[in-house]
Amino acid sequence: MFYVFEPQIFLGEVVQVKFRHRDCRHCGTYAVGREGGITIRVRRARELAPIVWTCDRLAFTEYASRVLSKAGLTGWEALPEEVTLLHRGIKREFPTYHEALVTSKSISILDSKGVQVEQCCATCGRTTYTPPREGIRVNPSDWDGSDIFGIRELPGNYLVTEKFAGVIRDRRFRQVELTPAEEWRDPWAWQEEDRTAKPGPETPEYTFDIVERFRGRQRKTC
Ligand SMILES: [Zn+2]
Repeated sequence: MFYVFEPQIFLGEVVQVKFRHRDCRHCGTYAVGREGGITIRVRRARELAPIVWTCDRLAFTEYASRVLSKAGLTGWEALPEEVTLLHRGIKREFPTYHEALVTSKSISILDSKGVQVEQCCATCGRTTYTPPREGIRVNPSDWDGSDIFGIRELPGNYLVTEKFAGVIRDRRFRQVELTPAEEWRDPWAWQEEDRTAKPGPETPEYTFDIVERFRGRQRKTC
């Protein structure tokens, strides 16, 4: 069984981060990857969970990183640059965070219901996909055996194995949601269905986070 791995916490507010860009005469300029580390301003002590998002990557505290490595979980590595944290008025010891790079091969979910090419730029090949409608189907022959891996059509989403999920549960890492892949409902799909709705006071607070997180969901593949 595979689970969609979703830390629920974004670590503070990004102060500095640098992206590599690509220029396309049709698509314009868009980000294709990160350069170097990140500086984040922490606003509340509760953001300091062991496993969090920065703006576009997973980040683990040194402790969480050690636990995951010791358990032999494969498919990721902790980047050497520390996440620089700025803070004011939070009186507690701060953990050290490193961003995690998922190094395993991403799977393709083009055979999951609802997933198809939405747009493909004839000039640069940048492709966007429609989101899955009824969960994610993992084709075992496409899986390289790693404990954490990405999804080609859904950049910024990760799946983990039962073993990885077990470590998260046993160690009681807070604020990480694990949903069986076939039961997962893409929050972006909900946004798509609801995109005619006007933002108003009823708009959930997390909408912004979802938009931020899925903004990077474009990829050059075709
Ligand atoms: Zn293009």
